[in-house]
Parts: sequence; structure tokens; C-alpha cells
Amino acid sequence: SSLYKIDGWGAPYFSVNSSGNVAVRPYGTDTMSHQEIDLMKVVKKASDPRSSGGLGLQLPLIVRFPDVLKNRLESLQSAFDFAIQSQGYVNHYQGVYPVKCNQDRFVVEDIVKFGSSFRFGLEAGSKPELLLAMSCLCKGSPDSLLICNGFKDAEYISLALVARKLLLNAVIVLEQEEEIDLVIDLSQKLAVRPIIGVRAKLRTKHSGHFGSTSGEKGKFGLTTTQILRVVKKLEKCGMLDCFQLLHFHIGSQIPTTTLLADGIGEAAQVYCELVRLGASMKVIDIGGGLGIDYDGSKSSDCDMSVSYGLEEYAAAVVQAVRFVCDRKSVKHPIICSESGRAIVSHHSVLIFEAVSTSTYDVPPMSSLGLQNFVERLPEDALLDYRYLSDAAIRGEYDTCLLYADQLKQRCVEKFKEGSLDIEQLADVDGLCDLVSKAVGGLGASDPVRTYHVNLSVFTSIPDFWGIEQLFPIVPIHRLDQRPGVRGILSDLTCDSDGKINKFIGGESSLPLHELEGSGGVSGGGGRYYLGMFLGGAYEEALGGVHNLFGGPSVVRVSQSDGPHSFAVTRAVPGPSSSDVLRVMQHEPELMFETLKHRAEEFVHDDMALASLAGGLARSFHNMPYLLPASSCCLTAANGN
Ligand code: PLP
Repeated sequence: SSLYKIDGWGAPYFSVNSSGNVAVRPYGTDTMSHQEIDLMKVVKKASDPRSSGGLGLQLPLIVRFPDVLKNRLESLQSAFDFAIQSQGYVNHYQGVYPVKCNQDRFVVEDIVKFGSSFRFGLEAGSKPELLLAMSCLCKGSPDSLLICNGFKDAEYISLALVARKLLLNAVIVLEQEEEIDLVIDLSQKLAVRPIIGVRAKLRTKHSGHFGSTSGEKGKFGLTTTQILRVVKKLEKCGMLDCFQLLHFHIGSQIPTTTLLADGIGEAAQVYCELVRLGASMKVIDIGGGLGIDYDGSKSSDCDMSVSYGLEEYAAAVVQAVRFVCDRKSVKHPIICSESGRAIVSHHSVLIFEAVSTSTYDVPPMSSLGLQNFVERLPEDALLDYRYLSDAAIRGEYDTCLLYADQLKQRCVEKFKEGSLDIEQLADVDGLCDLVSKAVGGLGASDPVRTYHVNLSVFTSIPDFWGIEQLFPIVPIHRLDQRPGVRGILSDLTCDSDGKINKFIGGESSLPLHELEGSGGVSGGGGRYYLGMFLGGAYEEALGGVHNLFGGPSVVRVSQSDGPHSFAVTRAVPGPSSSDVLRVMQHEPELMFETLKHRAEEFVHDDMALASLAGGLARSFHNMPYLLPASSCCLTAANGN
């Protein structure tokens, strides 16, 4: 586990058990009454149709742990409760979950259910998100907040006003100054008293990747001048009492509590000024930004890690708000945060399989041998070859590599000119690889292998491709054996960006085990499963359908007292090829009919035709990922 720094990024939820498998402790440190869950057993149950009660789902697979979600929410709440109590803060914390981090129905429903005893609410940033938040919060606490962020048109604002009519605590947070006119107009038309908030553009800016939303030039929020104009407008139409919340968002993954406290201090001043100007301020909403430690380094100098935990975060927030409000003798506001990443990242694990590796085998010399190869070399290439062999005799290995490269380039030129044949070109490759292997063997490390994984980076890890976000990736078994090779991961898409060649800790390859026998897809030999951790936020909603790979299968796994310490409470296969085709406006049923008619034209044997049609139907029905060899279905049909 130290090789993969699991204790750093995984604690208290993930560790390695005595079988060498990744174990999950959904209740974190509260393990007294709970057993750990062996992740390999979950994968087996979900994917292996032969294991008892096996569900036969295809990989890749997302395993969700609602108990982890519960523990994250409760830990965040307790951190704030503790800071509030220990600092004598005279109000409470009530957070909201920004649904954009993971809009999965069960994730949102779970959060509302688990958080209702402490008034946890939801944040929405678009009309569909608002619709889902409204309906989910009908089952939540009557005091929960429903924060309405994002660009708003008349329909969005009307919807938020309808939420008020339904006695949900919807707060319309102005992101653009123009929105205020719509809010005043529509609330008068609909005869609803809105709760209004304003998102302030703070001067405090965070310099990491996620800081571009912050600062005076940030995309969202109102400047000081605009906030003052909103106050005037509301005053003029007798609605200043509706202005109750101040929101800001410095950016995700705030690296230090110093920066956090700086931003909160500035926002708290704005809050106190709004109180002075007569607004009925009640809530300071500090946005998202509570970071997580992706690489386990607890350092603040990159987007991968943060130098604080939940307790330090909560203490810094409470202290910064209290300090400013006490100096201005302003009543302490309710503190709201919109933490997404910190709530949902840990609760799901993406499991995928390495199906093959490619090592670069040194091509053998053609049957004609070295002498024949050398004799047939054009003159200048022959000279390069002589330099190379002289350097080898002198034992100047670095020079050997240089001459080998020169020889290769020269031969490629000659091939392009037509003066070298294809066998000679292959022989040059063989010779040069032999040289680099021989020289490498005298000091360089083993070459890095490419492991092909049954996954699409674009669908399942879009932030790696888009913003170079790194996630911990670890084999979920065989961790009691020392990995013998290093590898990078290459996905199934035919896109050169579809590979993972950067790993936490700044590594350009990952320690991996040799595949045992023939891997998963090509045969029934030992399968090799990897897990990507901490990807529960953002990744699922951002993923695209590049190459028409759809999302993974999903299982929901709860702790249970049964023999395996877990129960699969929900299992959903990933989108089929038909589903992803439909996304791009194709009509799989018509496509199938077209292909079937074509088959009827050319295949006249009834059995062969039936088998071919059955195979085609299964191809539409199955997920687009690689199937294990045993379930391969298309059979060759004879054309007669
Ligand atoms: N609130 C707002 C307005 C955001 O833009 C974001 C995301 O960037 C969040 C909350 C969630 O942030 P995080 O995931 O860092 O908690």
C-alpha cells in the first residue's frame, strides 16, 4: 500500500487487507461495529455470472458506497459543529450539495436523506438541476436551503419562485446584474416574496487551475458597484428585506486555509456592509472549494492536494466570519457552504480491467542475416553502420546510441527514396532496437509497458484529458505481491489522447503486476483489475461519448451483516451500443432491420441467418466495451 500511497489519499476509507486486496471501510474510522468490504468480492459479485448470486455486469464498473457518502456528510457537519461550539459562534452551519458534482439520482436522494437531520440542502446551477433539486428536497428538512446559482432566464427565475410557493427555501442568487429586473418583475407578477442572494466578485483570487472563477475578472458574480445598484433597486421597490444571502466562490480545491480565510474575511466585510445598508442578511454562503488530497501529500503547491482537513477548514471559516462580524457588531450569520468535491469524491470507485500489455519486442533480423544486411546497405548508410560498430568495439555506449539513431534516420530516407527495400528497413529497426536494448541493459531501467485497459478515458476520466487532473489508480488485488513492471494505461479509443501516462506523485508510469496467463478479454486466464479512486465528483457528468463508448455499469453497495459484509442494493448495466447510438440521433431498430435485410439477401441458409441476426442483435444490446472471450457472440456466416 505504501507503493501506491493508499494510506495518504485513501484513509480512512481505503486500505489493503490481508489477502492483498483493496478493502473499503465505509464508516471511516468508526469501524468498531462494522466490517471492511473486500473490493474484489464486490467486483466478483457484480461481474462474474458464475459466482453465486453473480450479476454478470460488464466492466468498467462504478461501485458506489452510500455509507461513505453518509460518513462524509456527517464528518463535514461535525467539523463545523465543533468549530462553532469551540469558538462560541452564535449561529449554525447548514450546507448545501451542488448537484453538478454528481447528479445521479441516488447520490442526490441519499444526500438529502442523510443530511435532513442537520438541514442539509441542495444547490442547482441550471433549470434541470433546479427541477431535480426541488423534487428531491420535498423529502428533505423543511429548513434546508435550495440555492439557485447559474445564468438565469425568466423561466429559471419563475421556477425558483414556484419553489417558494411550494414552501421550499429557494434562494435566487444573482450572478448577473440584469437578473434583478426579472426577479422583481416576475415575483410581483406571481405574487411571491422571493429570497434573494447575490454572488459577489471578490478581489481575493486563488492561483491554482480552479481559481479562474475568482478575482475581479472572474466569470461570475457582481462587482461592488453592481451590488450597490441592486441594493438601491430593491430598496426602491420595497424589497430590500428579500435580500438575505451573500454568496461567493473562490474556486475549487482551495489550497490553504490562509487563502480561504482571506476570501472569507473580504466577503464577511461585504456581508456586514449589506447589513448596514438595510438588507435583511441571514446567510453567508462560502461556495465550494473544500479540497481533497488526491495524492496524499498534504501539500498546497499544486491542484492535487490541500494542506488541511475538514476540521481545519471549518475552524478557519468560523473564525474568519466571527472575527469580522464581532468587530462590526453584526449578528453572526448562518454559515452555508457548497462543498461538492469533498462530499462525493470518495464514495465511488471506478473499476476497470487491463486486458493485454504490449511490450516492445526486438524484431529479429531477417533470415538473410547481418552480413547480408550490411552488404546491401547504400554507401552513406554503410558508413553510419561502421561508425556504430567501431563505437561498440570501443565500448562507447552513448555514442553507439547516437550512431544507431543516425543509421536509422538515413535508412528511412533511403526507403522513402526507393533505394532500400522493406526487409532492409525492418532489419534496421531490429538492429537499432538490439543496440538500445544492449546499452539499456548496462544501466537503463526496464522499458515501460503499455497496459490496454477496458475503458474510455474520455467517458470515465474526462478531467485527466481536459485539465490533467490526476486520480489515484491502483490494482485492487495482488497487493501482497511486489509489482514487477512499470506501465502506462492505454484505453480503447482510437485517439492518442486516450491514455494515462501521469500518475499521482509526479510519476510517469505506474508499478504494475505481470498479467497472469492470457488476460480477461482474450481468454479466461487471471484477470487484472484496477481501481480509480476519488472520482465521485464531476467525472460522471462531464464524460462524453468519444468513439461511442458509453458510461460504465453501476452497483450500489451497502454495508451489511451478511457473510460478505456487503449487499448490492442496486445494479444497473451501462449504456448499450444502441443507447449510445441513439445519443447521436441514430435509430438502432432501423439500423438492425437494414442489416437484417442485407443478410437475407446474401445468406440463404436459415440456421446461419438466424445465428447472424442473433449476433447482430446482441451487438446492439451489449455495452460497447470489450467482452470476455467466452461471451463473444458474432459468428461467421457462410455467404452461400
Ligand atoms: N459552488 C459553485 C458556485 C461552484 O462553481 C462550484 C464548483 O466549482 C462548487 C460550488 C463546488 O465546488 P467544490 O467541488 O470545490 O466543492
